[in-house]
Amino acid sequence: MPLRTRPLIDGHNLCVGESGSFFLASASALDRLERDSLDEVDRVFLDLNGHVVAPDDRLALAARTLDLFCRSCPVNQLDYLILVPTLRCNLSCSYCQVSRVAEGRKGFDWSEETLAAVFACLDALEARRVKIEFQGGEPTLRPDLIRAVMERCSRFERSEFVICTNLQNVTDEVLDIFDHPSVFISTSLDGGAMTHGHNRTGDQSRTEQFLANLRMVTERYGQTKISALPTIDPVSPPDIDGLIQSYVDHGFESIFLRPINYQGFARKRHKASREQGDEWRRYYEAFVRRIIRRNWEDRSRVLEETYFSIALRRIFYPGRERHVDLRSPNPMGVDYIVVDYDGTVFPTDEARMLSRSGVIDLSIGTIADGWDTDARDTLNRHASNDEDPACKRCAYQPYCGRDIIDDIARYGRIDLPREETEFCRRHLHLFDFIFKLIYDEAPEVRYSLGRWLRLPGTPEALGDVLA
Ligand code: SF4
Repeated sequence: MPLRTRPLIDGHNLCVGESGSFFLASASALDRLERDSLDEVDRVFLDLNGHVVAPDDRLALAARTLDLFCRSCPVNQLDYLILVPTLRCNLSCSYCQVSRVAEGRKGFDWSEETLAAVFACLDALEARRVKIEFQGGEPTLRPDLIRAVMERCSRFERSEFVICTNLQNVTDEVLDIFDHPSVFISTSLDGGAMTHGHNRTGDQSRTEQFLANLRMVTERYGQTKISALPTIDPVSPPDIDGLIQSYVDHGFESIFLRPINYQGFARKRHKASREQGDEWRRYYEAFVRRIIRRNWEDRSRVLEETYFSIALRRIFYPGRERHVDLRSPNPMGVDYIVVDYDGTVFPTDEARMLSRSGVIDLSIGTIADGWDTDARDTLNRHASNDEDPACKRCAYQPYCGRDIIDDIARYGRIDLPREETEFCRRHLHLFDFIFKLIYDEAPEVRYSLGRWLRLPGTPEALGDVLA
């Protein structure tokens, strides 16, 4: 029974099997496990809870194999494209260093040839369903290109379009696109008007215009079609209640607490941003605990921190979460790609930013000539945490991921010992925090965890039954 352990609460240790099943063991129980001197109670517990599998129990063996297979997140089909039809933008936000040029610049939109190559790529996809995310720049500056791609996708059984927009200038033509039922809107909301304005242009009238447009689209479509992300300076994060309230005021229930990710030269200017540190982690925990309390006090809505929920579901639902920042193996240029304004293909949006900032060229090909290249193969030789010496010993390996682009962005290399990387420290903290909450018997914690796992049942039932 291969087990990895991690001290968790009050002398108890979390024990995790290779397929991700877990239990909490006292120090004495762990000692018996390690000395292979289990008593009858231990054996019954491990057997009944599926932590040991008898060699002749074919059903249990098959179930474990399925868990292992699902956890490896096999992907083989391209069905998710991030498209950058233009690099131009009508804003100039303080932390957007590399992924935009001024609205009036020429030569930063897709050419006819690039559009034709995008069409050819879409026509060749074998997937029956496709998801397209329009990024920028500000993609709504080219509604004609968005519409053209949408029309080209009409052959798919299902297509979903996410338009990442600053909602600064919502014209009738853009609204016409938003009206389409398969279109979703993603925008940024950094908190109240002052915080948002400070982070963005510093021009309060533009912030008011954005907030008016945000109100207009949420009233027109309801919240299910619109999502927002805050970008937060971890050195001076906003007041927790103020941030949550600004989301609640707009009807949003998911808040993705993303610290700002400086790239390139900006990363050199903001050296402190390379590591997020204990202060940020305390803020993060306080934020999640605050929404747990709010969920319990006001049952009319369930707020969640998006990344926490993704990580939580990775623990309980093997293979269901395909989030590209938290999976292993994390193959690049296989199930999703980024197509830049000039047709260059990148494995991720962060790779695009790094390349544009001149730090390192992480492009893997072009939309016209393909991306089955040596560059992609080189990146993919390191796309898994399976063989990493630290990860192999880590209790959280079945749930954790691998993100070499993040390592390159922060350290300029991918061969640092895992435990010395921000990715590892962040996820060790996150999974420690999640497991402490999993073993927390307070009804309000049980209730939020149950809802984030999408479990049915009344709040009282979730609070009681899980306890
Ligand atoms: S990156 Fe860190 S937390 Fe994640 S599996 Fe590896 S050692 Fe564990």
